[in-house]
This record gives sequence, structure tokens and C-alpha cells, in this order.
Amino acid sequence: MENLDPQEIRKFEELASRWWDPNSEFRPLHEINPLRMGYIARMVNPAGKKVVDVGCGGGILTEAMRRHGAEVTGIDMADAALAVARLHLQESGLDIDYRKCTAEQLADEAPEEFDLLTCLEMLEHVPDPGSVVEACRRLLKPGGLAVFSTINRNPKSWLFAIVGAEYILRLLPRGTHEYAKLIKPSELAGWCRAAGLELEAQIGMGYNPITKRYFLQRNLDVNYIACYRKPAAPEAH
Ligand code: SAH
Repeated sequence: MENLDPQEIRKFEELASRWWDPNSEFRPLHEINPLRMGYIARMVNPAGKKVVDVGCGGGILTEAMRRHGAEVTGIDMADAALAVARLHLQESGLDIDYRKCTAEQLADEAPEEFDLLTCLEMLEHVPDPGSVVEACRRLLKPGGLAVFSTINRNPKSWLFAIVGAEYILRLLPRGTHEYAKLIKPSELAGWCRAAGLELEAQIGMGYNPITKRYFLQRNLDVNYIACYRKPAAPEAH
């Protein structure tokens, strides 16, 4: 059985036509993109690297990584999102290999292919995030970097990411995030440890509703990005 929640996929399918509209439901992704892209590029220079974007959606981050000179593959299970992502290449003039598959499927096909893997705002939408994390480790070359982002689970994140973002500020459609599926950094760490990935860095992301600006911060209570390294192969003697 595929590690996929059809209801979650349907949610993204229904919104997909508006993916590149910066004033749509995807506005938050457009607004955080320069921040998260900048952070990733500081962790590893994407130029010339083989990169896979897991759960790429319409390709907001995927395109940014291509613009940084990476050779990029984007995978997702929402047909409509992939259709939009492919269509948008005509507008951007970029070349990206978009494929419909899960991380687990790609890991069977292309093990140890990638220097850098991104899996942003996706783990909280799958039934078994630990299985995705394990597949991410298989996709990476030894020494490769995996970047995950998701939302923490605690009373504050419920208030900010669900009540605040979906009901008060209406940044996201109601029902975008389900509290029980949010992920504590310690839970992500547990799956990564089990998969054999080592923590390299973590950073939080915040939003100021007055200035309407997002920013990086040390506090991981709500949105956060975590970078994990696949250990390099031991040197042959
Ligand atoms: N990573 C993108 C999009 C986040 S939205 C960004 O941050 O800009 C979450 C995406 O994950 C959606 O496009 C959804 O279709 C995808 N997704 C959900 N479950 C998935 C699965 N099991 N395999 C692949 N993609 C999945």
C-alpha cells in the first residue's frame, strides 16, 4: 500500500490551478519561499547539485532551486499540482523533471542519486512520515543533506498555525492542517535517528501579523526547518 492520504491529495488537487497566484491560498508559500531558499542555499550551494524536491506541489521551491543552478527532480502524488508545475515551466523557461511518485517509490528506482533533498510542508500530510524520512535517506548519496520543514505540535502551534492562520488571519483555507498530524522536532528526530540521519541544524520561522512579514528565528515552537545529513561512506583503506 502507498503511504498516501487520498483526502490530503484531493485538497491540493482542488486548489492546484491557483498555485502560482501569489494572492491565493498559496500566498504563504510564495512569501516564505525566499527565506527558506536562502536558508537552504546557506546550508549547501545548490549549483551543480542533483536535487530532489519531495512533495513539490506546483513547484515554488523546485523552480527556485533550479534558478540556483541545481539539476532538479520534483515529485508529488497530486496530478493537478504536477500539471500546473509542468505548465509553469513554459512561463519560467526552466527545465525540471517532474514525476508522479512517492518518495518510497523513487527510492526503489533511484537510490543514492541525490546530493540534496528537500521535503517542505509535506510530512504533516502523510499517514506515515517515518516511512518518508527513511525513503529520503535512501534517496541521498552518502554525505547528502535532507531538509525538512513542518509544523510543531503544542498549544502555541495550535493557536498560531491553526486558529490564527486558518480562522483569524485566513492565510490558509480551514482544514489545511490537522492538529494531530503536526510533528514535534523530537518526533522528526526520532524518525531520522531510526533512518540513520544526523541532525545538522534547525531553525524556526515566524510571522508578524502587523507587518505581514515572515522571518527566521531560533524559536521552533510553530513552523520550523530541520537539516539532516546522511553520514558519508567510511573511507576505504
Ligand atoms: N513542498 C511544496 C508544497 C507543499 S504542499 C512547498 O513547500 O512549496 C504539500 C504537497 O505534498 C502537496 O503538493 C501534496 O500533493 C504533496 N503530498 C502529500 N502527500 C504526498 C505523498 N504521499 N507523496 C508525494 N507528495 C505528497
